[in-house]
Amino acid sequence: MSFEEFQFHPHIIAGIEACGYTSPTPIQREAMPPILAGRDILGLAQTGTGKTAAFVLPLLQRLQAGPRKKVRALIVAPTRELAEQIHENISTMAGHTRLRSVVVYGGVGKPGQIKKIREGAEIIVACPGRLLDHLNDKAINLREVEVLVLDEADHMFDKGFLPDIRRIMKHLPNQRQNLVFSATMPTEIRHLAEEILNNPAVVQINHTQAVTTISHVLFQVTKENKTAMLKSIMAQEETTTTLIFTKTKHKAKSLALHLEKSGHSATSLQGNLSQQKRQQALDGFKNGTFKVLVATDIAARGIDVSGISHVINYDVPDTVEAYTHRTGRTGRATRTGEALTLASREDGSMIQSIERTLGKKMIRRNVTGFVAEACDLEEPLKARGERPIRKKSAPAGPGRNKRTRASSFDFGIPVPAQRR
Ligand code: AMP
Repeated sequence: MSFEEFQFHPHIIAGIEACGYTSPTPIQREAMPPILAGRDILGLAQTGTGKTAAFVLPLLQRLQAGPRKKVRALIVAPTRELAEQIHENISTMAGHTRLRSVVVYGGVGKPGQIKKIREGAEIIVACPGRLLDHLNDKAINLREVEVLVLDEADHMFDKGFLPDIRRIMKHLPNQRQNLVFSATMPTEIRHLAEEILNNPAVVQINHTQAVTTISHVLFQVTKENKTAMLKSIMAQEETTTTLIFTKTKHKAKSLALHLEKSGHSATSLQGNLSQQKRQQALDGFKNGTFKVLVATDIAARGIDVSGISHVINYDVPDTVEAYTHRTGRTGRATRTGEALTLASREDGSMIQSIERTLGKKMIRRNVTGFVAEACDLEEPLKARGERPIRKKSAPAGPGRNKRTRASSFDFGIPVPAQRR
């Protein structure tokens, strides 16, 4: 299938070409026809599937006809990074249309944003808090909005933005097209979708469809050896642009400093940074000044850096959704990528859940200088009162611990010099 079938305006086709897209991704194939027909949409898809173009291209097609220099589309996103990324995508896709988008979020001055809108933008991409500020100041008029897009609605909920969203909607006309995108569907989002959407077309793109170009690799390691193993992996694998995830802000910062001291061009992105520092870290990562970015889940939301070769889970995420969000940042659309996960004993049950969602086992890999010492999943299962699945034991061999069980979940530990 090609983009021609959607009969986009030639100016929009020029934008698609500028992006380098030759054929639509699954979400684009499924979501664009109902959006072009003016229907409401509930899109269940994660970042990395091409969902931005799935709503932006039909939106541009609609705005291409009709009045200019008034705000006709509002896109709400939970983070500045995502808002900035959507705005940048629109700028490229709309490059030949003379349609203009303005991005609105906190942490930067208000007057510049208002000025740009008053100069005649048709699209506003906004984070909820700052948008409400402008609405309360009566600085923005949304009465002519024809299309509302809520992107990453599940993260809006995570961040406590749903009351703000409901307040924002009071400023919109009742008659409009509504597009809601979310990777997951917690009850609160289901309720919100029911409130907002009118007879929506539901488009669902599976996690596995989104990540087909990614290899998922597991390294089993004791907690104490994670940093040593990470450095060995980075020395051995051909990592170019690497995004590393940690559980805490503190760890993101200290790990980036540690990697920097070991000769990597690394920086961190975590909640404690000022807007200016965040932007510096992101820009540096995008333009290649930093090859390694260490981030927490929250800080990394919405990062769109093309060509990320490796996503490394230094810490296993708390949920399967977080895993798919993290790893969706590599292997995007047409590229391939590697998602490497360092897991230790207590991560056993989460790894099982991730593998269930992926529908396959992660590839087990080890690092030279570390031997696999086995462990298994019995403990977490027993603790929950479940029966472990037993497999035949492998014979204990040199370098293997006698307590080993074959199905098990191995740890990599460095081989002490005297045992080598
Ligand atoms: P998104 O899910 O919107 O964040 O998009 C993920 C990545 O896929 C971005 O880097 C897009 O530029 C890219 N992308 C979107 N649509 C296509 C397409 N049809 N062909 C190739 N790449 C695409």
